[in-house]
Amino acid sequence: MVLKEGKVYVPKDEELRAEVIQLRHDVLAAGHGGRWKIVKLVMRNYWWLGVMRDIGRYVEGCDLCQRIKNRPKEPVGKLKLSKVPEKLWIHLIVDFITKLPVVAGKDVILVICDRLSKMTYFVATTEKTLVEGFMRLFRDNM
Ligand SMILES: [Zn+2]
Repeated sequence: MVLKEGKVYVPKDEELRAEVIQLRHDVLAAGHGGRWKIVKLVMRNYWWLGVMRDIGRYVEGCDLCQRIKNRPKEPVGKLKLSKVPEKLWIHLIVDFITKLPVVAGKDVILVICDRLSKMTYFVATTEKTLVEGFMRLFRDNM
């Protein structure tokens, strides 16, 4: 075992180095920490030339981290208010309330709301009807 400044030197063996990183990244207690957390954990006891680069590659290549971690995104723009409609029943909001218990053969409520007046229609229907004839349902109830 070779020590450098009190740390174990890990020889140039990719599998061995990957195992050292894996034991500080993938285990439940480590919780798939980010690059700098893993650098800190590994470098408490180990060292090799390019240790930070190898850890960065390992963390960036971790499938689980790529799927579950939030990455900083570009800042989103300012919130824009929707334009207020000038006439009634020109701008509508349409939504469905689904997965309801079946009552009188109906299990979905079609909700149609006018954005200006907030007047709302509720139309009882079924999921099958929605798929087949949403526009017919809309026309017949408006
Ligand atoms: Zn990970």
